Amino acid sequence: MDGRGRQGPGVLKARTALVVGAGIGGLAVARRLRRILPAGDRVVVVERERSQVFGPALLWYIVGASEPAQFTRPLEALRTGGIDLVHGEVSRIDPAGVTVEAGGRTIAGDAMVVALGA
Ligand SMILES: Cc1cc2nc3c(=O)[nH]c(=O)nc-3n(C[C@H](O)[C@H](O)[C@H](O)COP(=O)(O)OP(=O)(O)OC[C@H]3O[C@@H](n4cnc5c(N)ncnc54)[C@H](O)[C@@H]3O)c2cc1C
Repeated sequence: MDGRGRQGPGVLKARTALVVGAGIGGLAVARRLRRILPAGDRVVVVERERSQVFGPALLWYIVGASEPAQFTRPLEALRTGGIDLVHGEVSRIDPAGVTVEAGGRTIAGDAMVVALGA
């Protein structure tokens, strides 16, 4: 990330990474960014669901070999790992301006990963 997150020579300002979608890809990216970015930088996940369902595990559920609690994780738990969560349906993405509209809010960042699935 660079650009808006930096202020003047040698002076770093906190930056924000937006991850749009909290599925398998989005959560992997968000956790990786949280590990590698400085603590002062924000990682913000934008997602419409309150929990993540691990899709491949549905096969086991269909045959009666697992229960939803075994493959469903509340996304609120991300906050304890230093990742911010914005809950809302994404209605617009502006890649050039690095903004996302979700749930009536506009969230701005310095970099963005779109992981809304297929
Ligand atoms: C039964 C089943 C079995 C599978 N088995 C395998 C397997 O064996 N191996 C394998 O590699 N893959 C398997 N897959 C596929 C795998 O689950 C997907 O490839 C994977 O989930 C894709 O990850 P993703 O992050 O791109 O999208 P997703 O995991 O689908 O995540 C997208 C996220 O974006 C959110 N979102 C979408 N639109 C909006 C919006 N407008 N506003 C806000 N949020 C939004 C969704 O709620 C979701 O949380 C299986 C899938 C299923 C259903």
